[in-house]
Amino acid sequence: MFSYTANPARVVFGTGTIATLADEVRRLGASRVLLLGTSSLAGPVDRVADALGSLLAARFDEAAMHTPVDVTERALKVVTENDVDCVLAIGGGSTTGLAKAIALRTDLPPIIVPTTYAGSEMTPVLGETADGRKTTQTSPKVLPEVVVYDVDLTLKLPVQVSLTSGVNAMAHAVEALYSPDANPIVDQFALEAIRLLATALPRIATDPTDAHARSHALRAAWLAGTCLGSVGMALHHKLCHTLGGSFNLPHSETHTVVLPYAMAYNTTGAPDAMRRIAEALDAPDAATGVYDLIAALPVPHSLAELGFTETAITQAAEIATAKPYPNPREVTREGIEDLLRHAWAGTRPTPADGSKPDLRSLTTEVVDSFAATPDPRLRELLQDLVRTLHSYVVRTDLTQQEWEYAIGFLTRTGQISDDKRQEFILLSDTLGVSSVVDVLTNSRTPDTTPSAVLGPFYVQGPPETAQGADLAEGLPGTPLWTDVTVTDTHDTPVPDAIVDVWQSNQDGFYDVQLPDADGPVLRARFRTDTDGRLKFWTIVPSKYPIPVDGPVGGMLEAAGRHPFRAPHLHFLIAKPGFRTLVTQLFVAGGDHLDSDTVFGVKNGLIVDFAEQSGPAPDGREPEAGWRRLEFTFRVSPTH
Ligand code: NAD
Repeated sequence: MFSYTANPARVVFGTGTIATLADEVRRLGASRVLLLGTSSLAGPVDRVADALGSLLAARFDEAAMHTPVDVTERALKVVTENDVDCVLAIGGGSTTGLAKAIALRTDLPPIIVPTTYAGSEMTPVLGETADGRKTTQTSPKVLPEVVVYDVDLTLKLPVQVSLTSGVNAMAHAVEALYSPDANPIVDQFALEAIRLLATALPRIATDPTDAHARSHALRAAWLAGTCLGSVGMALHHKLCHTLGGSFNLPHSETHTVVLPYAMAYNTTGAPDAMRRIAEALDAPDAATGVYDLIAALPVPHSLAELGFTETAITQAAEIATAKPYPNPREVTREGIEDLLRHAWAGTRPTPADGSKPDLRSLTTEVVDSFAATPDPRLRELLQDLVRTLHSYVVRTDLTQQEWEYAIGFLTRTGQISDDKRQEFILLSDTLGVSSVVDVLTNSRTPDTTPSAVLGPFYVQGPPETAQGADLAEGLPGTPLWTDVTVTDTHDTPVPDAIVDVWQSNQDGFYDVQLPDADGPVLRARFRTDTDGRLKFWTIVPSKYPIPVDGPVGGMLEAAGRHPFRAPHLHFLIAKPGFRTLVTQLFVAGGDHLDSDTVFGVKNGLIVDFAEQSGPAPDGREPEAGWRRLEFTFRVSPTH
């Protein structure tokens, strides 16, 4: 069981959205707005003032970090003097904090326009400072009525604030995943926020005006803010609160320095959350993944750089561990001192036990080695093959012995193959790859007969046989009168189409598998007549096992899979001007239709091989009865 309380707020997200602010104010029934900002954001605040026009009652530009109560009191005077009925804050978490502090005391509806990634606009939490002490409280009264995210406003956010407040957002998402209140809804927000930030932050560092990266970071800030507003945080936030509140360290920079160390501390206590975070970061380990991401950004990397002195570590650890709070790993004085010592020095945390080495640069090197391949398709195929193979090896933690076995397996697959035995096709078929390629290639022509895999027993150029012939030539089996028609997609008959037919005998063998078979058996090439029709005798196909005496048979046995194919008749229909159709018709009611070992059965290819008695259309009258197969193949012109 889990519970999730969605905090109410109307959200407008996009570029140029500050143009909607006047409407948003009116929507609330307000007409006298107090506009909150900071002098460093004068340009955007002026633009919002213009957008508000006559709705603007007053401005207050003194919002400050950690929401000092004396600043709030000055702002409240402005509220009273100007008969304000709505507060509109534009800026980072500090300005949002001021709007919340006013809302708490006046019940005025706040509209927030966030310009950083701190996420405060999504939380019912207010942190305030009075006489140098920071206190936090939670109240739905401080939740904004409306949040307007405008990507344009973030384009000029200085790179360092962008990156540190981006990491601040990531911290909300990380701690949400191992919160005692964690739930699947918030998890999705958190993982998406981490994914978005992991790619957006390095791009913003390179090009702060990258609107796409900016949009992703702002969306991540929204999601991460929602995490912060929905579930309880843990060690990381507690430490940053201590360092900010008691040692006056700057908010988002402190988050940026501390996060990897808090994560390293919690790794053993929240292995599942850390695994998911590592996946979202596309890194082998969550804590070192975040460390490496931040290490590459132009931001402070140690508490020392933030002016924190080594001698303060003991005191900070004491404050941070004074009161117990929920955390996935027990919080001890010694443990936190050790954590702070590492954060003070900025050294890389040790990856969690059992985490895998980071092989991304090796993969990149190999992928890059194909970068100059002149043929673009070949380049794509090779580079993706390398990525996929490396990822497979890393994910499965492939051992040397397993890799050698795989090489040996492929070698045997090649050695057993010749012009009659095609073990590689069998491998592709039993792994389902042939069917995947078939579906990708042919599913885009829905008005033709579905195709099916060629299989390993096709022989090029079988002898052309006259219509009406009997492919079985006295072999045991139930006689089958086959009467098929080939048409185009407008049902116009296609004469002179070459139709190759092949199938197994009653014991399940193809002629190429029988050492004593003399020439083609149950295999022929026909030509459709002027009506696009083709009639011949054969026998009802039976189920059969694919050859199991090679490496593929060994694989099926090791996997406990049966080797049987559902009974079917192969057709290959070709005519210049038409797409060649390779397909199979399956006997309705036959064995293994739902577990065909090569995954070749398609619904449109299961056909009733109807039981008959009496004389067949050509006058022949098999004693023990016979069956009839009627089917129309639709082929499509190539143009
Ligand atoms: P901030 O609001 O202090 O802004 C940092 C600096 O960047 C300021 O000088 C600001 O004027 C400037 N700035 C902001 N946006 C800009 C832009 N678009 N272009 C140019 N300059 C811009 O920092 P912050 O990291 O957003 O917020 C930190 C504060 O928010 C802290 O006080 C923290 O406690 C609080 N906070 C509260 C919550 C909560 O849920 N209550 C959540 C996160 C943060």
